[in-house]
Amino acid sequence: MGGLSLLLLPAALTAPAAQDPAPVLAQARTPEGLAILLRFQFKKGLSVEGKALPRAFLAKGADGGGWVPFANLTPEGKRWALAALFPEDQWRQDDVRHRVRHPELESVWTMAALFTGHGQNYDRLMAENPDQPEKLREGDIWRIPRGLLSADLGGPGTGPDRSQPEDNLDDEARVAAYRGMLSFEEDAQGRYAAYRMRKGEALYSSVVIRYTDRVDPKGVNDLAERIAMRSSITDVRGIQPGQLIKIPLPFLADPFQPEGSSELAEEREVRAEVRRTVRVEAGPKLKGVRIVLDAGHGGVDPGARANGIWESDFVYDIAMRVRRLLEQETDAQVSSTIRYPGLGFKSREVIHSPSRAAEILTTPPFAVDGENPSAVSVHLRWVLANDLFSAFRKAKGDAQKTLFLSFHADSLHPSARGSMIYVPGASLVPASFALGAKTGRVAEARRSARVAFTGKEKLQGEARSRQFSEAMLKALHKDHIPVHANRPIRNVIHRSGGKWVPAVIRYSTGATKALIEVANLTNEEDAANLRDPGFRERYAVAVVNAIRAYYRK
Ligand SMILES: [Zn+2]
Repeated sequence: MGGLSLLLLPAALTAPAAQDPAPVLAQARTPEGLAILLRFQFKKGLSVEGKALPRAFLAKGADGGGWVPFANLTPEGKRWALAALFPEDQWRQDDVRHRVRHPELESVWTMAALFTGHGQNYDRLMAENPDQPEKLREGDIWRIPRGLLSADLGGPGTGPDRSQPEDNLDDEARVAAYRGMLSFEEDAQGRYAAYRMRKGEALYSSVVIRYTDRVDPKGVNDLAERIAMRSSITDVRGIQPGQLIKIPLPFLADPFQPEGSSELAEEREVRAEVRRTVRVEAGPKLKGVRIVLDAGHGGVDPGARANGIWESDFVYDIAMRVRRLLEQETDAQVSSTIRYPGLGFKSREVIHSPSRAAEILTTPPFAVDGENPSAVSVHLRWVLANDLFSAFRKAKGDAQKTLFLSFHADSLHPSARGSMIYVPGASLVPASFALGAKTGRVAEARRSARVAFTGKEKLQGEARSRQFSEAMLKALHKDHIPVHANRPIRNVIHRSGGKWVPAVIRYSTGATKALIEVANLTNEEDAANLRDPGFRERYAVAVVNAIRAYYRK
C-alpha cells in the first residue's frame, strides 16, 4: 500500500445538510503516481474520484464517472482506498488494527460496512471489541479479525445478502412460506424445528427474528447463542448454507408451532377471521371515518435514542404531518391524543433537541409524566381515544369506521431495519380491564376508564388491524420505504421473559388499531431517514394512502 501521500482538504466541495458533519476529502496517489481524491461522507461512506482511477481498481461493469462508490471498486481498489483513507491502520496476518481517525464520520456500522462488507456485521464487530465504546473516539484501536473481513479484503466473506423469494408475498403467504421451510424432528435432547440456512442468511435475523418473537438486541443475541449451542455450532460466524439449525419448540412464535398445538390453532382462527372480515367502504374522502392519532412518548420521556436522534419529536412530527394531510385532503374526523404546547399541531423541517413539554389532551390536559407501562399518561391515551370513539358512536357514527394509530420508533437489533406494525393479538387482550391509577380530575377517565371485550370482538379487532397493516405495508412498499425483512406485522412483544401487547392498542375500542414502529433507530440508515423531513413527509403520505386503501372494498 506504499507510495501514497495524504492530505486533508477543507471540505467545501459538497454542501452538507445543516446538521450533518462535513465530509472529509483526502488526496492520495494511485500506484501510477496520479493524484486522486477520496471522499468520506457522513452516512454515505467512502467514494473515490473516478477520473484518475486506475482501470484495475474499477469493478467490471461499474460506472467510472464522477465519484465511484467504495462498493464499485475491485478488491485491489478497496484495499488501496482503505489504506489511503486510514494510513495508520495495520494490516496484519490475523487481523486489521483500525485506528479511528474521523470519529464524527465513522461509526461501528460504517466500519463494519467498509471492512466486513456489510453494516449488519455491526454486532459481531462489537463482540470482537468488548472494551471499546460504541461511540467512537479518535485514536481508538478496533480489531477486525480476518474471519470477519469481507472476501474482497481476504476474509471468508460471509456478508449477508438478505433478499429472498418470499419477500414480495403478503403477510399470510409469507408466514406460510417460512413455515414451509421448517420440519419437526427429534433427537436425544427432545423435539425441535429444523431449519436449513440459505445463502446469505444469518442466525440472528433469518432464524431468531423471523421464527421467534424476540427482536430486542439482547433477546436476539442471547437466543442466537442458545440456538447455536443446541445446534452444536461452535462458530456462529462460520455458518455455511445448508447448516442444520435446531430451534427448540418453546421459542417458536405461534405461527410456527407444530400441528395440533393450541398456539397454531389460535393463529389459524385469526387468519380465517381476516379472510371472513368484509372491508368497510368509506370512499377516497374517508367520509364518516373517525381517526385518533397518537404519538408515543414526549414530555419527560424522549423514548428510544440512538444515532443522535430520539423517538418522541420525530414520531410526533410524522403524526402531525398525517394530521395535516387528513384534514386537508379528506372528510375524516381527526383528533390527537397528545400535543406539544410550544409547537401545537405543526410539523417541523428541523428538529434540534427534545421538546420538554407534552400534554395528553384530556379535560383538563394531563402533563406527560412517563412512559413506563404503568404511567398514567400512557393509559390516558387509550382512555381519551375510547372516550372520543364512544361520543362518535353515540352521535350515530359507524362503529366500524373508528381507527386508532400510535406512532413510535424502536431500538431493535441493528440488523433489523424498516417499519414494523403491532396489532392487538386476540389472545393477549383481556375480557375486561379497569384503570385503577389515579387520574385526578380527568373527565374522560370517569367515563371511559373501563373496557370489556367479547371473544368475537378480540378476534375482530386483530383481524381488522391486520387488514389495515397489510394496506400500510403495501403503501410503504409502493413508495420504497423500508419495511422490516422478517414478519413486519406482529401481534405480541416478547421481552425479558414477558409477553404482551402495548396498552394503547390492547385496550383500544377502535374497530381498527395499530402501533406503527416507523423505523429502527439503532440502524443507521433508518435513523438518517427519520432525520430527513422529506422522508417524514413521504411516510405521512404513505400512511394516508394506506388509510384510503383500507376503507375501500
Ligand atoms: Zn415507543
